[in-house]
Amino acid sequence: MKKLLSFFAALAVSFSIASAQEYLPKWQEGYMDIHTIATGRGDATFVVMPDGTTLMIDAGDNGKLKDPQHPDTTRRAGEWQAIYMKKVMEDLPDRNKVDYAMITHFHDDHMGAVRQMLPGSNGYGLSGITLVGEFVDFGTLIDRAYPDYDFPSKKNVNNANKGFMPEYHKFVEHKMAHGMKMEKFDVGALNQIRMLNNPKKYRKNFEIRNLAANGEVWTGKGEDAEKQYKGDPKLFDENVNSCAIRITYGNFKYYNGGDLSGGNWDIYKSKERDMETPVAKVCGKVDVIKANHHGYYDTCNGFFMNTLSPDVVIIDARSNNHPVPSTMARMTDPLVWTEQGEFYITVDKAREKLSEELWSHFKPWGHIVVRVYDGGKEYQVFVLDADTTDYPIIYKSDIKTAGK
Ligand SMILES: [Zn+2]
Repeated sequence: MKKLLSFFAALAVSFSIASAQEYLPKWQEGYMDIHTIATGRGDATFVVMPDGTTLMIDAGDNGKLKDPQHPDTTRRAGEWQAIYMKKVMEDLPDRNKVDYAMITHFHDDHMGAVRQMLPGSNGYGLSGITLVGEFVDFGTLIDRAYPDYDFPSKKNVNNANKGFMPEYHKFVEHKMAHGMKMEKFDVGALNQIRMLNNPKKYRKNFEIRNLAANGEVWTGKGEDAEKQYKGDPKLFDENVNSCAIRITYGNFKYYNGGDLSGGNWDIYKSKERDMETPVAKVCGKVDVIKANHHGYYDTCNGFFMNTLSPDVVIIDARSNNHPVPSTMARMTDPLVWTEQGEFYITVDKAREKLSEELWSHFKPWGHIVVRVYDGGKEYQVFVLDADTTDYPIIYKSDIKTAGK
């Protein structure tokens, strides 16, 4: 009898643990969800617009299998990213198609790598976006250099991700033969990426603005863009060329600029690397940013942080330099930026290097979901366990007022 009782007691405990798991409430029309998917291999953001139109920004895999990967290394990062997106898409109008995909720039941690690439059956290798493409269809794919891939030169583009660019080109060709549209990122454009399911309903309070790419930045007027360099753009490293966008939903604003740079540094050839300052001038205040270049040394400059003044900063991390201590110190220095921001991070590799003091600014790490409610008036941030495949909530913020 005693044994039986303890069995029931144990059962009760296990049930209470199971029922204590809380999951992200289902997406519903009118919500905008921005998922930063944590694998530890590279950036991947998945946006569900208020009418259910979907946008994937980057699908990175640097192929460094020795580094810790989440949830584990039984599958490549691209497959884990696809599994996550497919789960989100169960509640959407189209379960199999990602309406838009955008590659911010041609680096492996944003698109895939030849390192540890899997063989494919369509004439190209599988890593990052080409692997995600095995599990979902893409409506339109946008990158910074289609169709000529010659800015600043063909050599620059090819060397940005040596060995993988030919695979990417073959992937694009194959997908286009099967209905995918391909577009070049148009700097300054309004709604190149737009709602497809119910655009009329949200016409007045939703837009996506293309802010920057290829050394050009939106002027703030119409859809015009202006070059930010006088010298030779062939000196640019690939990060300078990153595509940056701002998504607006009612009062809520979100910024994502890939690995856009914010300052010069001797290790880089070009002395015209500060794209953050002109971008900040036209972008203005936002609620949430994905920090440029994973919070590395040359980004998130004081003017940029001050002007965007985000209430929530997301670090999409894959190394112990994401973010570096100096950038984290700058972002949390009240003399640089007086906002009381909240900090979120996808993985915990930088913990030791940052020291407990700087690390303590972060909420628990994992998949980060920003959910925007009610026509963009309010939003909330959730962190989901990145070491599982059912994604229980491990942290949720208070509901915040957008645009304040
Ligand atoms: Zn990167």
